[in-house]
Amino acid sequence: ALVLGIETSCDETAAAVVRRKADGRGEILSNVVRSQIDDHALYGGVVPEIAARAHIAMLDGIVRLAMEEAGIGFADLDAVAATAGPGLIGGVIVGLMTAKAIALAADKPLIAVNHLEAHALTARLTDGVAFPYLMLLVSGGHTQFVLARGVGDYVRLGSTIDDALGEAFDKTAKLLGLPYPGGPAVEKAARSGDGKRFNLPRPLLNRPGLDMSFAGLKTAVRVAAERAAPVSDQDVADLCASFQEAAADVVASRAKRALEEFAQMFADVEPVLVIAGGVAANTRLRQGLDEAARATGARLVAPPIHLCTDNAAMIAWAGAERFVLGLIDPLSVSPRPRWPLDATAKPMLGEGR
Ligand code: ATP
Ligand code: MG
Ligand code: FE
Repeated sequence: ALVLGIETSCDETAAAVVRRKADGRGEILSNVVRSQIDDHALYGGVVPEIAARAHIAMLDGIVRLAMEEAGIGFADLDAVAATAGPGLIGGVIVGLMTAKAIALAADKPLIAVNHLEAHALTARLTDGVAFPYLMLLVSGGHTQFVLARGVGDYVRLGSTIDDALGEAFDKTAKLLGLPYPGGPAVEKAARSGDGKRFNLPRPLLNRPGLDMSFAGLKTAVRVAAERAAPVSDQDVADLCASFQEAAADVVASRAKRALEEFAQMFADVEPVLVIAGGVAANTRLRQGLDEAARATGARLVAPPIHLCTDNAAMIAWAGAERFVLGLIDPLSVSPRPRWPLDATAKPMLGEGR
Protein backbone atom coordinates (compact mmCIF):
# COMPACT_ATOMS: atom_id res chain seq x y z
CA ALA A 1 0.00 0.00 0.00
CA LEU A 2 1.25 3.47 -0.95
CA VAL A 3 -0.02 6.20 1.38
CA LEU A 4 0.37 9.98 1.67
CA GLY A 5 0.39 11.14 5.30
CA ILE A 6 -0.24 14.62 6.69
CA GLU A 7 0.62 15.85 10.20
CA THR A 8 -0.50 19.24 11.58
CA SER A 9 -1.60 18.53 15.17
CA CYS A 10 0.99 20.67 16.93
CA ASP A 11 3.93 22.76 15.74
CA GLU A 12 5.23 20.67 12.84
CA THR A 13 3.78 20.96 9.34
CA ALA A 14 4.61 17.65 7.70
CA ALA A 15 3.81 15.41 4.74
CA ALA A 16 5.30 12.05 3.74
CA VAL A 17 4.82 9.14 1.39
CA VAL A 18 5.31 5.64 2.79
CA ARG A 19 4.93 2.19 1.29
CA ARG A 20 3.89 -0.86 3.28
CA LYS A 21 5.08 -3.95 1.45
CA ALA A 22 3.21 -7.24 1.37
CA ASP A 23 5.61 -8.71 3.94
CA GLY A 24 4.69 -5.94 6.39
CA ARG A 25 7.95 -4.03 6.06
CA GLY A 26 7.91 -0.31 5.48
CA GLU A 27 9.72 2.03 3.13
CA ILE A 28 9.81 5.82 3.44
CA LEU A 29 9.71 7.43 -0.01
CA SER A 30 9.67 10.99 1.32
CA ASN A 31 9.38 12.68 4.71
CA VAL A 32 9.12 16.47 4.73
CA VAL A 33 8.90 18.28 8.08
CA ARG A 34 8.76 22.01 8.62
CA SER A 35 9.12 22.88 12.30
CA GLN A 36 7.51 26.08 13.57
CA ILE A 37 9.89 26.35 16.54
CA ASP A 38 11.14 29.79 15.41
CA ASP A 39 7.56 31.10 15.07
CA HIS A 40 6.81 30.21 18.71
CA ALA A 41 10.18 30.68 20.43
CA LEU A 42 9.45 34.35 21.14
CA TYR A 43 6.43 33.30 23.24
CA GLY A 44 8.20 30.44 25.04
CA GLY A 45 5.65 27.87 23.87
CA VAL A 46 3.29 26.89 21.08
CA VAL A 47 0.64 29.56 20.33
CA PRO A 48 -2.37 27.71 18.78
CA GLU A 49 -3.52 30.58 16.54
CA ILE A 50 -0.03 31.12 15.13
CA ALA A 51 0.36 27.36 14.61
CA ALA A 52 -2.90 27.06 12.67
CA ARG A 53 -2.06 30.00 10.41
CA ALA A 54 1.41 28.66 9.72
CA HIS A 55 -0.05 25.25 8.78
CA ILE A 56 -2.39 26.98 6.29
CA ALA A 57 0.52 28.92 4.79
CA MET A 58 2.88 25.95 4.51
CA LEU A 59 0.92 22.73 4.00
CA ASP A 60 0.22 22.95 0.23
CA GLY A 61 3.91 23.37 -0.55
CA ILE A 62 4.96 20.66 1.90
CA VAL A 63 2.54 18.16 0.34
CA ARG A 64 3.78 19.03 -3.15
CA LEU A 65 7.39 18.56 -2.00
CA ALA A 66 6.62 15.17 -0.42
CA MET A 67 4.93 13.97 -3.63
CA GLU A 68 7.80 15.25 -5.80
CA GLU A 69 10.46 13.64 -3.63
CA ALA A 70 8.55 10.35 -3.74
CA GLY A 71 8.34 10.72 -7.53
CA ILE A 72 4.63 9.93 -7.70
CA GLY A 73 1.29 11.59 -8.44
CA PHE A 74 -1.94 11.48 -6.42
CA ALA A 75 -3.31 8.86 -8.84
CA ASP A 76 -0.57 6.44 -7.72
CA LEU A 77 -1.68 6.51 -4.07
CA ASP A 78 -3.76 3.82 -2.40
CA ALA A 79 -4.97 6.13 0.36
CA VAL A 80 -4.58 9.55 1.98
CA ALA A 81 -4.03 9.71 5.76
CA ALA A 82 -4.03 12.66 8.14
CA THR A 83 -3.90 13.22 11.87
CA ALA A 84 -7.49 13.69 13.04
CA GLY A 85 -6.50 14.18 16.70
CA PRO A 86 -5.56 14.53 19.47
CA GLY A 87 -4.00 17.97 19.14
CA LEU A 88 -4.63 21.66 18.63
CA ILE A 89 -7.99 21.90 16.86
CA GLY A 90 -6.99 24.64 14.39
CA GLY A 91 -4.03 22.67 13.08
CA VAL A 92 -5.90 19.37 12.96
CA ILE A 93 -8.67 20.97 10.88
CA VAL A 94 -6.13 22.29 8.34
CA GLY A 95 -4.47 18.89 7.88
CA LEU A 96 -7.62 16.79 7.88
CA MET A 97 -9.50 19.07 5.47
CA THR A 98 -6.52 19.11 3.09
CA ALA A 99 -6.43 15.30 3.17
CA LYS A 100 -10.18 15.18 2.51
CA ALA A 101 -9.79 17.50 -0.49
CA ILE A 102 -7.02 15.34 -1.98
CA ALA A 103 -8.95 12.13 -1.28
CA LEU A 104 -12.08 13.53 -2.92
CA ALA A 105 -10.29 14.98 -5.96
CA ALA A 106 -8.16 11.86 -6.55
CA ASP A 107 -10.96 9.45 -5.57
CA LYS A 108 -8.87 7.72 -2.89
CA PRO A 109 -9.89 6.38 0.52
CA LEU A 110 -9.32 8.66 3.53
CA ILE A 111 -7.82 7.46 6.79
CA ALA A 112 -8.26 9.56 9.94
CA VAL A 113 -5.24 8.73 12.07
CA ASN A 114 -4.92 9.01 15.83
CA HIS A 115 -1.59 10.81 16.37
CA LEU A 116 -0.79 8.63 19.40
CA GLU A 117 -1.42 5.45 17.42
CA ALA A 118 1.03 6.74 14.80
CA HIS A 119 3.70 7.18 17.50
CA ALA A 120 2.89 3.67 18.75
CA LEU A 121 3.22 2.03 15.32
CA THR A 122 6.48 3.75 14.29
CA ALA A 123 8.63 0.92 15.66
CA ARG A 124 6.89 -1.45 13.24
CA LEU A 125 7.92 0.79 10.34
CA THR A 126 11.54 1.13 11.48
CA ASP A 127 12.17 -2.23 13.16
CA GLY A 128 9.31 -4.51 12.15
CA VAL A 129 8.33 -5.04 15.80
CA ALA A 130 5.57 -7.63 16.24
CA PHE A 131 2.55 -7.33 18.57
CA PRO A 132 2.27 -7.35 21.52
CA TYR A 133 4.77 -4.82 22.79
CA LEU A 134 5.07 -1.98 25.27
CA MET A 135 5.40 1.64 24.25
CA LEU A 136 6.59 4.59 26.29
CA LEU A 137 5.41 7.85 24.73
CA VAL A 138 7.28 10.85 26.14
CA SER A 139 6.60 14.15 24.38
CA GLY A 140 5.64 17.74 25.10
CA GLY A 141 1.98 16.79 25.42
CA HIS A 142 2.01 13.14 26.52
CA THR A 143 3.74 10.79 28.92
CA GLN A 144 2.26 7.31 29.04
CA PHE A 145 2.92 3.58 28.99
CA VAL A 146 0.79 1.79 26.42
CA LEU A 147 0.33 -1.90 25.73
CA ALA A 148 0.02 -2.34 21.95
CA ARG A 149 -1.85 -5.60 21.23
CA GLY A 150 -2.69 -4.97 17.58
CA VAL A 151 -3.58 -2.20 15.15
CA GLY A 152 -6.34 -0.20 16.84
CA ASP A 153 -5.98 -2.28 20.01
CA TYR A 154 -4.22 -0.41 22.83
CA VAL A 155 -4.40 -0.34 26.59
CA ARG A 156 -3.01 2.60 28.50
CA LEU A 157 -1.21 1.15 31.50
CA GLY A 158 -0.16 4.37 33.21
CA SER A 159 0.44 8.02 32.52
CA THR A 160 1.50 11.28 34.09
CA ILE A 161 -1.06 12.64 36.52
CA ASP A 162 0.08 16.23 35.89
CA ASP A 163 2.74 17.61 33.49
CA ALA A 164 4.05 15.69 30.49
CA LEU A 165 7.79 15.10 30.78
CA GLY A 166 8.59 17.35 27.80
CA GLU A 167 6.45 20.04 29.40
CA ALA A 168 8.43 19.64 32.65
CA PHE A 169 11.69 20.01 30.69
CA ASP A 170 10.30 23.11 28.96
CA LYS A 171 9.08 24.71 32.21
CA THR A 172 12.32 23.90 34.03
CA ALA A 173 14.30 25.52 31.22
CA LYS A 174 12.09 28.60 31.32
CA LEU A 175 12.48 29.13 35.06
CA LEU A 176 16.25 28.76 34.74
CA GLY A 177 16.38 31.28 31.91
CA LEU A 178 17.21 28.75 29.18
CA PRO A 179 15.74 29.04 25.65
CA TYR A 180 12.71 27.24 24.19
CA PRO A 181 12.35 24.35 23.51
CA GLY A 182 13.70 23.46 26.92
CA GLY A 183 14.50 19.77 26.49
CA PRO A 184 17.62 20.15 24.33
CA ALA A 185 18.73 23.22 26.35
CA VAL A 186 18.44 21.38 29.68
CA GLU A 187 20.28 18.36 28.31
CA LYS A 188 23.09 20.56 26.99
CA ALA A 189 23.47 22.48 30.27
CA ALA A 190 23.34 19.21 32.24
CA ARG A 191 26.44 17.95 30.44
CA SER A 192 28.65 20.27 32.50
CA GLY A 193 26.63 19.82 35.70
CA ASP A 194 26.70 17.63 38.79
CA GLY A 195 23.53 15.52 38.91
CA LYS A 196 24.10 14.63 42.56
CA ARG A 197 24.38 18.17 43.92
CA PHE A 198 20.64 18.72 44.41
CA ASN A 199 18.62 15.91 45.87
CA LEU A 200 15.33 16.33 43.99
CA PRO A 201 12.19 14.25 44.68
CA ARG A 202 11.18 11.13 42.74
CA PRO A 203 7.39 11.61 43.04
CA LEU A 204 5.04 8.61 43.30
CA LEU A 205 7.91 6.13 43.08
CA ASN A 206 6.93 4.05 46.08
CA ARG A 207 3.30 3.90 44.99
CA PRO A 208 2.05 0.88 43.04
CA GLY A 209 0.94 1.15 39.41
CA LEU A 210 2.53 2.91 36.46
CA ASP A 211 1.41 6.50 36.90
CA MET A 212 4.02 9.25 37.04
CA SER A 213 4.18 12.85 38.24
CA PHE A 214 6.55 15.61 37.15
CA ALA A 215 4.98 18.86 38.35
CA GLY A 216 6.51 18.51 41.83
CA LEU A 217 9.94 17.91 40.35
CA LYS A 218 9.77 21.15 38.41
CA THR A 219 8.63 22.99 41.57
CA ALA A 220 11.53 21.48 43.51
CA VAL A 221 13.91 22.92 40.89
CA ARG A 222 12.31 26.33 41.41
CA VAL A 223 12.73 26.13 45.20
CA ALA A 224 16.35 24.94 44.91
CA ALA A 225 17.09 27.76 42.44
CA GLU A 226 15.60 30.33 44.81
CA ARG A 227 17.73 29.02 47.68
CA ALA A 228 20.88 29.09 45.54
CA ALA A 229 20.25 32.68 44.33
CA PRO A 230 22.05 34.49 42.81
CA VAL A 231 22.20 31.57 40.38
CA SER A 232 25.51 31.09 38.55
CA ASP A 233 25.99 29.21 35.28
CA GLN A 234 27.36 26.31 37.32
CA ASP A 235 24.23 26.32 39.53
CA VAL A 236 22.06 26.16 36.39
CA ALA A 237 24.12 23.27 35.03
CA ASP A 238 23.89 21.40 38.35
CA LEU A 239 20.13 22.02 38.60
CA CYS A 240 19.62 20.76 35.03
CA ALA A 241 21.72 17.67 35.68
CA SER A 242 19.89 16.96 38.96
CA PHE A 243 16.49 17.44 37.28
CA GLN A 244 17.47 15.12 34.46
CA GLU A 245 18.72 12.47 36.90
CA ALA A 246 15.45 12.53 38.84
CA ALA A 247 13.28 12.44 35.70
CA ALA A 248 15.28 9.59 34.17
CA ASP A 249 15.13 7.66 37.45
CA VAL A 250 11.35 7.96 37.63
CA VAL A 251 10.84 6.87 34.03
CA ALA A 252 13.35 4.00 34.22
CA SER A 253 11.88 2.60 37.39
CA ARG A 254 8.37 2.78 35.92
CA ALA A 255 9.62 1.14 32.72
CA LYS A 256 11.12 -1.70 34.74
CA ARG A 257 7.80 -2.29 36.47
CA ALA A 258 5.92 -2.09 33.14
CA LEU A 259 8.23 -4.70 31.62
CA GLU A 260 7.76 -6.99 34.62
CA GLU A 261 3.98 -6.71 34.24
CA PHE A 262 4.30 -7.39 30.51
CA ALA A 263 6.35 -10.52 31.22
CA GLN A 264 3.61 -11.78 33.53
CA MET A 265 0.88 -11.11 30.95
CA PHE A 266 2.73 -12.67 28.01
CA ALA A 267 4.97 -15.38 29.44
CA ASP A 268 6.24 -16.71 26.10
CA VAL A 269 6.77 -13.39 24.31
CA GLU A 270 10.13 -11.57 24.30
CA PRO A 271 9.36 -8.31 26.12
CA VAL A 272 9.94 -5.28 23.89
CA LEU A 273 9.80 -1.64 24.96
CA VAL A 274 9.59 0.89 22.15
CA ILE A 275 10.03 4.59 22.78
CA ALA A 276 8.42 7.52 21.00
CA GLY A 277 8.08 11.27 21.42
CA GLY A 278 10.55 14.14 21.41
CA VAL A 279 11.89 13.48 24.92
CA ALA A 280 13.11 10.09 23.66
CA ALA A 281 15.98 12.12 22.18
CA ASN A 282 17.39 12.56 25.69
CA THR A 283 20.57 10.52 26.13
CA ARG A 284 20.29 10.20 29.92
CA LEU A 285 16.69 8.99 29.63
CA ARG A 286 17.67 6.41 27.02
CA GLN A 287 20.49 5.20 29.24
CA GLY A 288 18.05 4.66 32.14
CA LEU A 289 15.61 2.83 29.87
CA ASP A 290 18.41 0.71 28.49
CA GLU A 291 19.36 -0.38 32.00
CA ALA A 292 15.70 -1.09 32.86
CA ALA A 293 15.38 -3.25 29.73
CA ARG A 294 18.59 -5.12 30.46
CA ALA A 295 17.55 -5.76 34.08
CA THR A 296 14.33 -7.41 32.89
CA GLY A 297 15.70 -9.30 29.87
CA ALA A 298 13.79 -7.04 27.48
CA ARG A 299 14.72 -5.40 24.20
CA LEU A 300 14.64 -1.62 23.87
CA VAL A 301 13.67 -0.33 20.43
CA ALA A 302 14.42 3.34 19.81
CA PRO A 303 13.54 4.61 16.32
CA PRO A 304 15.80 7.36 14.93
CA ILE A 305 15.07 10.68 16.60
CA HIS A 306 13.55 12.32 13.50
CA LEU A 307 10.90 9.58 13.60
CA CYS A 308 10.38 9.90 17.39
CA THR A 309 9.44 13.58 17.15
CA ASP A 310 6.35 14.63 15.24
CA ASN A 311 6.55 13.72 11.55
CA ALA A 312 4.24 12.59 8.74
CA ALA A 313 5.98 9.31 7.88
CA MET A 314 4.44 7.87 11.03
CA ILE A 315 1.00 9.15 9.98
CA ALA A 316 1.35 7.65 6.49
CA TRP A 317 2.56 4.37 8.03
CA ALA A 318 -0.35 4.22 10.51
CA GLY A 319 -2.63 4.93 7.54
CA ALA A 320 -1.05 2.05 5.59
CA GLU A 321 -1.39 -0.34 8.54
CA ARG A 322 -5.08 0.54 8.85
CA PHE A 323 -5.68 0.51 5.08
CA VAL A 324 -4.51 -3.08 4.63
CA LEU A 325 -7.00 -4.10 7.34
CA GLY A 326 -9.81 -2.27 5.56
CA LEU A 327 -10.03 0.42 8.25
CA ILE A 328 -10.93 3.49 6.18
CA ASP A 329 -13.01 6.50 7.20
CA PRO A 330 -15.85 8.42 5.55
CA LEU A 331 -15.16 11.93 4.19
CA SER A 332 -17.56 13.16 6.89
CA VAL A 333 -15.15 12.18 9.69
CA SER A 334 -14.67 14.91 12.31
CA PRO A 335 -11.47 16.18 13.94
CA ARG A 336 -11.09 15.00 17.53
CA PRO A 337 -9.01 17.40 19.64
CA ARG A 338 -9.27 14.87 22.50
CA TRP A 339 -8.93 11.27 21.44
CA PRO A 340 -7.49 8.75 23.88
CA LEU A 341 -5.55 5.90 22.33
CA ASP A 342 -7.80 3.26 23.91
CA ALA A 343 -10.70 4.66 21.87
CA THR A 344 -9.34 4.07 18.32
CA ALA A 345 -11.43 1.81 16.11
CA LYS A 346 -10.42 -1.84 16.38
CA PRO A 347 -10.39 -4.30 13.47
CA MET A 348 -12.53 -7.44 13.78
CA LEU A 349 -11.20 -9.91 16.31
CA GLY A 350 -8.18 -11.84 15.07
CA GLU A 351 -7.12 -9.36 12.40
CA GLY A 352 -4.11 -7.11 12.68
CA ARG A 353 -2.10 -9.32 15.02
P1 ATP B 1 2.80 15.76 21.08
O1 ATP B 1 2.88 15.75 22.57
O2 ATP B 1 1.46 16.15 20.56
O3 ATP B 1 3.28 14.48 20.48
P2 ATP B 1 4.99 17.75 20.94
O4 ATP B 1 5.30 18.64 19.80
O5 ATP B 1 4.77 18.36 22.25
O6 ATP B 1 3.76 16.87 20.46
P3 ATP B 1 7.40 16.33 20.27
O7 ATP B 1 7.54 17.19 19.05
O8 ATP B 1 7.40 14.87 20.07
O9 ATP B 1 6.13 16.67 21.12
O10 ATP B 1 8.54 16.68 21.31
C1 ATP B 1 8.77 17.97 21.80
C2 ATP B 1 9.18 17.87 23.26
O11 ATP B 1 10.38 17.09 23.40
C3 ATP B 1 9.47 19.22 23.89
O12 ATP B 1 8.85 19.30 25.14
C4 ATP B 1 11.01 19.22 24.01
O13 ATP B 1 11.47 20.03 25.07
C5 ATP B 1 11.28 17.77 24.26
N1 ATP B 1 12.66 17.39 23.92
C6 ATP B 1 13.28 17.48 22.72
N2 ATP B 1 14.57 17.10 22.80
C7 ATP B 1 14.80 16.77 24.11
C8 ATP B 1 15.94 16.32 24.84
N3 ATP B 1 17.12 16.15 24.26
N4 ATP B 1 15.77 16.08 26.17
C9 ATP B 1 14.58 16.25 26.76
N5 ATP B 1 13.48 16.68 26.13
C10 ATP B 1 13.57 16.94 24.82
MG1 MG C 1 6.43 19.18 18.27
FE1 FE D 1 3.60 13.74 18.83
